[in-house]
Amino acid sequence: MTELEQVGERWDYAPAPESREIVQLRDRYGHYVGGTWREATDTYTTISPSSEEPLAQVGQGTAADVDAAVAAAREAFPVWGALRPAERAKYLFRIARILQERSRELAVLESLNGGKPIKESRDVDLPLAAAHFFYYAGWADKLEYAFPNSTPRPLGVAGQIIPWNFPLLMLAWKIAPALAAGNTVVLKPAETTPLTALVFCDVLRQAELPPGVVNILTGDGRTGAALVEHPGIDKVAFTGSTEVGKEIQRRLAGTGKRLTLELGGKAANVVFDDCALDQAVEGIVNGIYFNQGHVCCAGSRLLLQESIAEQAVDKLKRRLGTLRVGEPLDKNTDVGAINSAQQLAKIRELVASGEEEGAEIFQPECRLPEKGYWFAPTVFTNVAQSYRIAQEEIFGPVLSVLTFRTPEEAVEKANNTAYGLSAGVWTEKGSRILWMAERLRAGVVWANTFNRFDPTSPFGGYRESGFGREGGLHGLAPYLELGE
Ligand code: ADP
Repeated sequence: MTELEQVGERWDYAPAPESREIVQLRDRYGHYVGGTWREATDTYTTISPSSEEPLAQVGQGTAADVDAAVAAAREAFPVWGALRPAERAKYLFRIARILQERSRELAVLESLNGGKPIKESRDVDLPLAAAHFFYYAGWADKLEYAFPNSTPRPLGVAGQIIPWNFPLLMLAWKIAPALAAGNTVVLKPAETTPLTALVFCDVLRQAELPPGVVNILTGDGRTGAALVEHPGIDKVAFTGSTEVGKEIQRRLAGTGKRLTLELGGKAANVVFDDCALDQAVEGIVNGIYFNQGHVCCAGSRLLLQESIAEQAVDKLKRRLGTLRVGEPLDKNTDVGAINSAQQLAKIRELVASGEEEGAEIFQPECRLPEKGYWFAPTVFTNVAQSYRIAQEEIFGPVLSVLTFRTPEEAVEKANNTAYGLSAGVWTEKGSRILWMAERLRAGVVWANTFNRFDPTSPFGGYRESGFGREGGLHGLAPYLELGE
């Protein structure tokens, strides 16, 4: 060990745990229907993926629960939809402010139930969730200006199904535009991360939202399927896997229900040799290791221009060695726990396939906790486009590196995917950014940054990544009838 390394060892970070005292959980939760708690007939245990510790019992929604929630939303719709738009806005502003007030509690709970580092839930998930409510609150009484020459009307009851990677943020993406447009909602969080949605019901109580405007049902895919198929639903908004999205689309065909789907991705992050390389390395790290890579728009395929490939990979490996993997509630943690045993098994299976197919694996030395679900940040080099790790969404902290020589080749490789959700471009040349953005078949293209989100900016994909947009006015339109 060199002298410098020895000094480095002494400079290790001391633990900086965020207290979990602020979170008060009940032992058992039912479903939130019509502004009150409905006893769950069937329950399961939700755990913390970083410790496998049980956190609470939550309901497995049945067909009867779905019926009750949809009935409550239907009953509330004529009142909510007819409310003076400025009044609707007031409730949304209130929810946004309460989210800000309770942000530490909700951030801790998000990390506890989902495994993501507290610095992400605190600095990204919570501020963005509040921002979405603020943003759509602002549109609630300006719909005629948002969609000129039309008479915007709400659709009715929206059935919304969300995934486990950004539980509260996805809830905000779904509920805020639906309510601003005058719809009522039945929302189902993912089975592994129901707790922030359940505490959000208390936010709704504080905001004095009229009963039935928002109903929350917990449970797994069976509850989701019953919600999608319920005849009392006018619109379905789904974020999750491509497989389930396709199944939902098949089931809704011919029913007249509106649908938006936000599905998987396999984004290319394209790095040109004229870029600011150190900044690009930060962007690459943020692109794939943010939220353990549980991000549908993650930059999971890194395309490096050949002339800088070696240097970039060296820098990246060195940077990986400084990432701190471990306890999500420690404020120094960069990479937290994998969300579930099932997801960990999926990541392991795909990583094994990468090694079998001939890619070279790199993982920095890191001590992973014994309990809980963990996976070290991983980089694969020598990856061929045909490998599964270059084609399939891994949804974990695993990066596949490919190289290219010309911009044309970069575009061809970047577009060689069934998905089309996001992409990144790193170059000093503005004209090249525009040239690339025109050709990359992705709903969102980031230039010299990655994984940036803003409520004013539409987000969504095409091809196997789904259709419809969330955020901005584009995210409001799918909740409205825009007839003359
Ligand atoms: P992932 O777990 O990979 O994010 P899923 O598509 O399985 O993706 O899950 C996303 C959401 O969809 C979760 O809330 C889940 O419970 C729900 N879900 C799963 N299967 C179905 C289904 N057949 N119909 C409706 N919703 C479903």
